Amino acid sequence: MYDGDIASVLISSQEIQDKIAELADTIAADYGEPKPGEPDLLLVGVLKGAVMFMTDLARHLPLPTQLEFMAISSYGSATSSSGVVRILKDLDRDISGRHVLIVEDIIDSGLTLSWLRKNLESRGPASLQVVTLLRKPEAAKLDVDVSYVGFDIPNEFVVGFGLDYAERYRDLPYIGTLDPSVYA
Ligand code: 5GP
Ligand code: MG
Ligand code: MG
Repeated sequence: MYDGDIASVLISSQEIQDKIAELADTIAADYGEPKPGEPDLLLVGVLKGAVMFMTDLARHLPLPTQLEFMAISSYGSATSSSGVVRILKDLDRDISGRHVLIVEDIIDSGLTLSWLRKNLESRGPASLQVVTLLRKPEAAKLDVDVSYVGFDIPNEFVVGFGLDYAERYRDLPYIGTLDPSVYA
């Protein structure tokens, strides 16, 4: 599949699955079972990149969770974002009073996330935290507020496990880098 397009596998499918299980345990320990009368933890996934991560995370979490999705587009080039964000699909329901965990695929500059955080914060959730599968050095450096990070990766463009280049490669079960011939 995608013969010759993938230059290297950065994180294998097994490594991803092990990490998601570990993140799920940590998150479950932090949140605990909802108290009687309290609503379930609400996972808010950012389409489309976070879909694979979110579904695996929800299946690993030993807590009842509900799933909501948002689609946003950030103006910029194919490989970097500008922080100017537009909502393509909003949440289907009110999140006020809910414990919300934003599920992200990757944080690079952190501009997309800081916009999203502000936007959701204004809707009055009981709590708002972030889990991301991947984080790049710039976000780590800027200390973007993220509670749970799967992997810190080098400053390279990666695809797979939800992440695309021109809408391709999301279906790969691992994270890899692209051969330069793909951009040519
Ligand atoms: P930020 O606003 O943090 O700079 O960028 C976050 C968004 O940029 C991600 O949700 C993703 O859509 C895109 N992005 C950043 N780095 C990568 C990457 O290495 N690969 C892919 N496929 N998308 C990336
Ligand atoms: Mg994203
Ligand atoms: Mg993309």
